[in-house]
Amino acid sequence: MAVLACGAILAGALAPVANASILDGVLRDRRHVTTTLRHVRAARAERVRVLNATVALADRTLERGARGRGVDPVRWRHLSHRLRHQRWEAQIRLHRVDRFANRRVKALLARRGRIDAWLTTWAVFRACPVAGSHVVADNFGITVRLRGVPVHRHMGNDISAATGTPIVAPFDGYASASSSPLGGLEVRVKGARGYVYNAHLLSYGRLGYVGAGTVIGYVGSGGDATAPHDHFEWHPWDGGAVDPNPYLDVVC
Ligand SMILES: [Zn+2]
Repeated sequence: MAVLACGAILAGALAPVANASILDGVLRDRRHVTTTLRHVRAARAERVRVLNATVALADRTLERGARGRGVDPVRWRHLSHRLRHQRWEAQIRLHRVDRFANRRVKALLARRGRIDAWLTTWAVFRACPVAGSHVVADNFGITVRLRGVPVHRHMGNDISAATGTPIVAPFDGYASASSSPLGGLEVRVKGARGYVYNAHLLSYGRLGYVGAGTVIGYVGSGGDATAPHDHFEWHPWDGGAVDPNPYLDVVC
């Protein structure tokens, strides 16, 4: 289960928490795309309104002029010619504004679609499970040999952090506590796409329904741990554990 062969070394050189995760950047990008979309649509609507008003005004004036009496025919010929030209120009512009805006909207929607597809694939976790200085060991699948513990495959990543560092729910879900000789105090969070398992806790935080980022416990070194760390497993669709490292990379 949970072992940290070099935990003592790592604990002495904990990296500072990154200010912004990959996820933060992607979510910022998505917000930017959404804001730009809103601006492009609003600008198009405003341009269309103004150009339509120009066309309508030209129409009204032409109609009034055609019925008008006492209008100098020569002057009216000039004026009506100019109005028809303005009307024609406005309609050409309307067409261009629409085409240009549609192209931008289409490109922005496509970009947001790509961002959403990326989020669905990679942003399984919305928060790093350890909220504080930490080091994630990419040690899924290694063979664990410890005295007094059956040889087994390591089913998670060990996230080293100082004792007492908060452990948080990586996504919205239901947090439940358990304990075992190897894991010590454990907490699982069951979310929409599976559950995570944290082991070796010092103590529990909030349990029950939690949101991403809610403190559900504190880093300890219970069970078979040799140094304080959060043993973290990811079980998609409640099945067998898969390597959480690519997903932790996004948020830690
Ligand atoms: Zn472990």
